[in-house]
Amino acid sequence: MPDLSSAESVLKQYFGYDSFRPLQGEIIQSVLDKKDNLVLMPTGGGKSICFQVPALVLPGICVVVSPLIALMKDQVESLRSNGIEAAYINSSQSNDVQLSVEQQALQGELKLLYVSPEKLLSQHFFTIMKNVPLNLIAIDEAHCISAWGHDFRPEYTKLNFLKSSFPEVPIIALTATADKTTRKDIVQQLQLKAPEIFVASFDRPNLSLNVYPGKDRFKIILRLIQSKPNSSGIIYCLSRKSTEELSRKLKAEGISAAHYHAAMSPDQRAKVQEAFIRDDIPVICATIAFGMGIDKSNVRWVIHYNMPKNMEGYYQEIGRAGRDGLPSNTLLFYSFRDVMVLQGFVEDSEQKEVQLAKLQRMQHYAEAPTCRRRILLSYFGEQQDEDCGNCDVCKNPPTVFDGTVLTQKALSGILRAKEQVGSTMLIDILRGSGKRELLDKGYHNLKTYGAGRDVSWVDWQQYLLQMLNQGFFEPDYEEGGLLKVTDSGRQVLFEGKKVDLVKVEEIAKRAEEIQQKAKSKPKKQIVREELFESLRTLRLDLAKKADVPPYVIFNDNTLNEMCLHKPTTEEEMKDISGVGARKYQLYGHLFIDAIVRFLKKKNEEGEKVSGSTYKLTYEYYKEGLSAEEIAEKRNLSPTTIYSHFANLYENGQDIDLHRYVPQDTLNSIEKALEITGESKQLKPIYDYLKEEVPYHQIRMALSILKKSQ
Ligand code: ADP
Ligand code: ZN
Repeated sequence: MPDLSSAESVLKQYFGYDSFRPLQGEIIQSVLDKKDNLVLMPTGGGKSICFQVPALVLPGICVVVSPLIALMKDQVESLRSNGIEAAYINSSQSNDVQLSVEQQALQGELKLLYVSPEKLLSQHFFTIMKNVPLNLIAIDEAHCISAWGHDFRPEYTKLNFLKSSFPEVPIIALTATADKTTRKDIVQQLQLKAPEIFVASFDRPNLSLNVYPGKDRFKIILRLIQSKPNSSGIIYCLSRKSTEELSRKLKAEGISAAHYHAAMSPDQRAKVQEAFIRDDIPVICATIAFGMGIDKSNVRWVIHYNMPKNMEGYYQEIGRAGRDGLPSNTLLFYSFRDVMVLQGFVEDSEQKEVQLAKLQRMQHYAEAPTCRRRILLSYFGEQQDEDCGNCDVCKNPPTVFDGTVLTQKALSGILRAKEQVGSTMLIDILRGSGKRELLDKGYHNLKTYGAGRDVSWVDWQQYLLQMLNQGFFEPDYEEGGLLKVTDSGRQVLFEGKKVDLVKVEEIAKRAEEIQQKAKSKPKKQIVREELFESLRTLRLDLAKKADVPPYVIFNDNTLNEMCLHKPTTEEEMKDISGVGARKYQLYGHLFIDAIVRFLKKKNEEGEKVSGSTYKLTYEYYKEGLSAEEIAEKRNLSPTTIYSHFANLYENGQDIDLHRYVPQDTLNSIEKALEITGESKQLKPIYDYLKEEVPYHQIRMALSILKKSQ
């Protein structure tokens, strides 16, 4: 029976990865042991590897059932670009294409076959499955099987025939979302036999979690985008109209953006999605309709222009960032108005109680003065013992001030207006506005009129939100959101109960500081980003030519590693994570060329790039330049270049040192070496040879002798 070490070599050979991520190894071992498995892993956790690797290790073919037809093509392209024989069948293809894929399967030319549930359920496909050596059945997006899940697909409930028809073939069911009920459902419906259940942590430490007050949103967004030019991101808005408005405003600032919402034609939507996946349009302003079934690994940031309805949605949406595991930014704006709007939506829904409770949890998260990740994970049933250090609260714990008087002003305003005002009117009263409606109602005669003039309109919104969250008043929905003071609010007003509030200016300032920090970058980083840009451009060109999304060529992580290590040889390139044998063969030399070009250009501009000095010398050497010429080009001494030669030679590069050290010189140095017994310092040998042999020859001779031993 194959073991994990053969799985590891498949991982390196085909995918170019050095090691398994948490749980992948265990899961694969269990599949190789022919057990049934249920795998729960967050988006981007690396589920696919769990069935793709066993499919390659075991003889035969793996059938992958997936409801996301749009994704199949990308997944299969990704596999093929790694030199893996994969194909898909679904109703979007012509009969001819389907037939030829079936032929390939029957002739043993495929290792992985993706299929839609509809197709899988056909009698015809059943015959094919009976006639190929099945090694594994993978059920992707397995939560679709459960009516409890959020994405129920009736076809999935008919998959129980798999176990009874193919009792010998292990099944692996995978999903990113499944509560306990859904889990049980999956196991039962698929009739899994004593399945192993793997639950990976839902933590995504590479996502930074930030919540800012909904103030100056556009300015902050603009700065964030400008600090990460060309990086892909999604901005989720509450309404269709605001997606269009926002994308228009961004375009006016010279940013390549597009909008996306459910009211667009399928054609338009597909176009926008495709442009995003292919890195043609980096910024998408969208309603939550966008993102389902997008398998793009290099989404670098996700912004919620408005607060989401619940934590599930929020987590799923931010989860679209950073699937490649690289640091990615998430940012949620929240405001009093959004909360009101969302509460209004919920009002008409059937499950009002549940929805309101969920909204409240979301609000609690946005308002929290404690580590956000801990709140998020505890919501999903995972307790963390330590703060994360990668959320805005951890980075900048808020300080509170005594907000008792401020709160009293607001509460008194509500009561004096006989609890007949909503938040907008309340703020107008507090700020002493001269609006017609206010004057008509005589609110300018109230004692609290103008009592909160010193606080700006938007700041009042933020403070009211904090007060609402602390339960001092609540909106009455049956009366169109008029504010009612609660008992706890009365305690503040009449019994002097103390109230802590977080300063709005401080939150805003923190937001600014975080943005500023992103601006001042160390030199090394600037160089790396420049190289990244040129590799990215190369990737984009190649992707266009091959008609695949850019990450199918190499993902961001792989490009980053290239920028860090600057591989210029086959060996170095194959050491980069994500560069498997096939990818090396197809693209390796192109990327090496680009890196070499970059290093040379930097050298010509007189700029030193760390970790590149030997590489540069070697490149010029290969061009046929002499040591003196290289020295001049590089503004170094010839002696230094010779010592580079020696180093390169010792490290196995193809440098002909003998050319610089005549045989008889070599012989005398060898003798000197024996007598002085010195193999590190050059001076004793130099002296022994009566200062007749130059240092650089001694240096190179020592390398030759060292290697020949
Ligand atoms: P999921 O299906 O769970 O959302 P994927 O299978 O698409 O996640 O994997 C997410 C990303 O992580 C992909 O780019 C994948 O190539 C990468 N990945 C998976 N396993 C590893 C690993 N062991 N080492 C490095 N990268 C990995
Ligand atoms: Zn934290």
